Amino acid sequence: MRDDAPKMKQFETLREIVEAFPNEQAATNYFTTIRWRNGAFCPRCGSIKIYHFSDRRTHKCGDCRTRFSIKVGTIFEDSKIPLHAWMVAVWLIASHKNGITSTSLAKDLGVTQKTAWFMLHRLRNAARTHSFKRRLTHKESIA
Ligand SMILES: [Zn+2]
Repeated sequence: MRDDAPKMKQFETLREIVEAFPNEQAATNYFTTIRWRNGAFCPRCGSIKIYHFSDRRTHKCGDCRTRFSIKVGTIFEDSKIPLHAWMVAVWLIASHKNGITSTSLAKDLGVTQKTAWFMLHRLRNAARTHSFKRRLTHKESIA
């Protein structure tokens, strides 16, 4: 099951990407089509028997019964940063060929520098591994 990071090549300008993701649902829909482009799957057990709730944000596994959002199992899971801010950050980082500082990302996104630093760190990892999959923590990997 591949889970590659999107290139977001279809967006030429910051204005285009901001218009494409006016709210959290738009970003959620976009990320869902990337992550599940080969079909929906459970982030816990890998089952493809998935039920979709009418809120368009909650899904449930028909096998392990886990309820989850599309962020579960990705680098976006354990943060309060909205997905649309993450999508804009992905685009900003890709468009700065010589790298973007956390100060400048913070200013562009309207977040604190600490948050921007956290986002940069996670997105660089995603770029390196070509995946938005969350890396297992030490605790999880020995469990
Ligand atoms: Zn499951």
